[in-house]
Amino acid sequence: MADFSYLQAEMENWKKDGTFRPLTELESDQGAKVKIRGKEVIQLSSNNYLGLTIHPRMKKAALEAVETFGAGTGSVRTIAGTFSMHEAFEKRLAEFKHTEAALVFQSGFTANVGVIASILTEQDVVISDELNHASIIDGIRLTKAARRIYKHSDMNDLEKALQETQNYRVRLVITDGVFSMDGDIAPLPDIVELAEKYDALVMVDDAHASGVLGKNGRGTVDHFGLHGRVHIQVGTLSKAIGVLGGYVAGPQVLRDYLIHRARPFLFSTSHPPAVTAACEAAIDILLEEPELIERLWSNARFFKEGLERLGFETGNSETPITPVIVGEDALAMRLSDELFAEGVYAQGIAYPTVAKGKARVRTIVTAAHSQEDLELALQAFEKVGKKLGVIS
Ligand code: PMP
Repeated sequence: MADFSYLQAEMENWKKDGTFRPLTELESDQGAKVKIRGKEVIQLSSNNYLGLTIHPRMKKAALEAVETFGAGTGSVRTIAGTFSMHEAFEKRLAEFKHTEAALVFQSGFTANVGVIASILTEQDVVISDELNHASIIDGIRLTKAARRIYKHSDMNDLEKALQETQNYRVRLVITDGVFSMDGDIAPLPDIVELAEKYDALVMVDDAHASGVLGKNGRGTVDHFGLHGRVHIQVGTLSKAIGVLGGYVAGPQVLRDYLIHRARPFLFSTSHPPAVTAACEAAIDILLEEPELIERLWSNARFFKEGLERLGFETGNSETPITPVIVGEDALAMRLSDELFAEGVYAQGIAYPTVAKGKARVRTIVTAAHSQEDLELALQAFEKVGKKLGVIS
């Protein structure tokens, strides 16, 4: 069979169960409101936590970098694509994160894959939370190391895994700092304590904590005061930082090793100057405009309390990610569509991104939302939630 009818057949089923989702085109910039199919709607689906995608200082930095250094870099970092600005930014990032060194990857996804796949061998074992991000799972798939998955944030199960893997050379415990579908924070102090008890390394993926948690948005390690006790911090430059990229922050030896062995670093071209310059501007903003993080958190609290007051099931979120859990995949998609009709863009999330029976509309408020945006969004949730019988 030399065609794609087998894919078409599978997708027909997705269409029947309501999970076939064409991509949504934005016809505007990525702000608190976006234009979709000619309609202006309140954006509750971006990771633009601090509104930095459109911050004037970010745009200015990107424009100036293009003027001075051009549009692209023309090479991978190891050949001719390392610019002074790449190195300077990494030094800045390491200083910000209070680590010895940092290394930037093209995305958070490739940072996870790059680090996990390169530093472990068949002598080692990786011990990973069951709800860790897909990029961690893919990194694990690429290692030759043994693997143990522990129940979500379950410290008894983690301890069991650590007890049962004492014969391996290196044990690497990996957790998301903030879990992307539920918005709960990993019990990092407990994880670190267990890892210290059993001599294991700890890696945290701070994609949803970078720019959100900790002093000036330094992440979960700072939030819990665990500097020096978490061996690898991965983060993204694509969410709160507002641009694109991922990073690994940790000891110099790790950076040196990754430069020689992490395949996404070795075989994929470096960030364009505009990206790096805007990321550097974001660090300035995190340090100089702490009010953005304060507004993010007050908006998040207001919106979360509003949803709870209306009677929605919002799970165990502790961060600006608030899921509205409805159960069936089709109902989550319907809720999302009806919200759109009421002027709110909040994407439905179904299996396999979340477990069956846990489909949801995931909301993320940002520092860019006004009080009025959030009140209008809550009104839309109330109207649609009642119409679909999600709340009474
Ligand atoms: N880790 C987590 C926990 C994430 O949520 C994401 C983004 N979906 C990533 C890594 C990947 O980051 P990026 O979008 O920069 O590739």
